[in-house]
Amino acid sequence: MPIRMLSPEVASQIAAGEVIERPASVVKELLENSLDAGANTIAIHVEEAGKKRIEIADDGAGIPADELELAASRHATSKLVRSDELFSIMTLGFRGEALASIGSVSRMTITSRVGDEKEGARFMVEGGKSKKPTKVGATVGTVICVEDLFYNVPARLKFLKTDTTERRAIDTLVARYALAYPAKRFKLTDGKNVVLQTAGDGDRRAILAALYGVDVAKQMLEVHSMEEGMTLAGFISPTSLTRSNRKEITFFINGRWVHEVALSTALMQAYHTLLMVGRYPLAALFLEIKPEDVDVNVHPAKAEVRFRNQDKVFSFVQRSARKALLAYSPVPNVAPSLWGGRSVSVESNSVGLDWTIGHDNQVNSDQLSVNSGDLMLRQAQHGGPETDAQSPTSNLHSPNSQAQSSSFARIPLLRLIGQIGAAYLVAEGPDGLYLIDQHAAHERVLFEKLMAQREMKSIASQALLTPVAVTLPPQSTQLLMSQLPVLKYFGFDVEEFGPNTFQIRAMPVLFSGSDPSAALRALVEDFEEDEAPLKDEVEKKLAARVCKRMAVRAGMSLSNEEQRALLADLETCDSPRTCPHGRPTMIHLSVDVLERQFGRRGAR
Ligand code: ADP
Ligand code: MG
Repeated sequence: MPIRMLSPEVASQIAAGEVIERPASVVKELLENSLDAGANTIAIHVEEAGKKRIEIADDGAGIPADELELAASRHATSKLVRSDELFSIMTLGFRGEALASIGSVSRMTITSRVGDEKEGARFMVEGGKSKKPTKVGATVGTVICVEDLFYNVPARLKFLKTDTTERRAIDTLVARYALAYPAKRFKLTDGKNVVLQTAGDGDRRAILAALYGVDVAKQMLEVHSMEEGMTLAGFISPTSLTRSNRKEITFFINGRWVHEVALSTALMQAYHTLLMVGRYPLAALFLEIKPEDVDVNVHPAKAEVRFRNQDKVFSFVQRSARKALLAYSPVPNVAPSLWGGRSVSVESNSVGLDWTIGHDNQVNSDQLSVNSGDLMLRQAQHGGPETDAQSPTSNLHSPNSQAQSSSFARIPLLRLIGQIGAAYLVAEGPDGLYLIDQHAAHERVLFEKLMAQREMKSIASQALLTPVAVTLPPQSTQLLMSQLPVLKYFGFDVEEFGPNTFQIRAMPVLFSGSDPSAALRALVEDFEEDEAPLKDEVEKKLAARVCKRMAVRAGMSLSNEEQRALLADLETCDSPRTCPHGRPTMIHLSVDVLERQFGRRGAR
């Protein structure tokens, strides 16, 4: 075939394919135009999941009659003149492609009027072919109606999902924009129902409630952080509220909805060790950043961006979310089903004075008699204060400060009652009974100590009196070789020692006393399961795994002192309520629950 120029129609349909993929993309572009036009009220109407009709009416600035035709041409925009302005762009649009694209794959009608004209004008485009604008009566603002989307590109129509899916995409999109612009009024209707309506009073939590229901909205934690030209605002879910996928994680950057995997990853890292594997938080986060620090022109639908300094943004998001999370993290309640199906509310911060005083004394004397810093089981390890990153004195809160913090991340001081089933510790707290999983709790304690030492770049390593040789299968050898620096960093000194044989010369003090070769084999197994994750993740994951291997198992009976030391250590943890893999370390039965269960109070 000879080379020919594409006809303008075909060329524009191809170009449209990049911007307009599905009905929701039409809604997105039109919404963004209305917001750019300074609208305060935006009404969206969809029929048949937007395939039949999408209409968006706004009270924005409007388009002058003599510019209507131009507005719908490709590369026509009122928002950008020079290319360097791209780095100071304050509007959502700038490519001048949306109206042209939509017009080439639908029947589009634009009706608009600007404030200083008496009449409005109407302009129609059908499959890229336009008619001359006509004068019509209209209120100030713009109404854009898109009918029979993709009527002239049947191949596109075939790619659309079911009406339910396409409709959900539109609903989600409008809800997210409503949340991002709480001061604007949004209304979404579908011919039968008002799907969403917001008041425009700036109250984001009310919009959350419309989205997720009042219960969820109440639980969402507020994020608000500011740092060197960046602010992050919005909501994230507490660790008790999760989904099985990332779909409820939304980011807006400078008012624009983006799909930035890096940002979700940063958020997920804030939840690291707090969520079960395969669970994801809900989040709606709004990042404001200087326009010159972000490149918005890397994706036709502007759904992706590039940061000038991605690490800085990434770490800001992670720290902000972590801060919000740690400020609040309740003990898992006893599942009501476990206790006869009554609803159970566990909420009590009141500290009985007698109890607290008695308890405080007890903790003091415990610390005199037990080297609580290191729960090194199976080994009488005394001394070695350098391993104790968290000083035991941090246990000695005044009763007051303890009472205040009890509803936050930390756990109250606990009085040990004993061990049951060689697996659980039973303890009393100011607000009831605690059952503690010794393995999960010890994992948490080891993990936090190790991470604290890592933070201070001083993971204490202890030389073995006699180095231990370990022989591994050949395929594991390569793997281990590549991971030696990481191991070293964590306090394992391992050297190649002949074919497929390694010699362990030192291991972290924190783990001394456990079998070095078992530890190394366990680590290699773990490496083998992994596909190359991020470096930071490797370290945390590795730390979590090492701790899991080294923690006391269920089935080990612990001495009284070991039990006390474990409790005391857990009390000093930053996130004592979950193990590094996200499972709970404890179950709490409040006084209230006990009283109800014994029929002393409330439900009969
Ligand atoms: P872009 O938004 O990238 O400029 P569009 O094709 O979306 O390109 O829109 C072209 C132009 O039409 C805009 O620059 C704007 O001037 C005008 N326009 C589009 N929609 C509206 C609206 N709802 N209100 C006022 N002006 C609009
Ligand atoms: Mg636009």
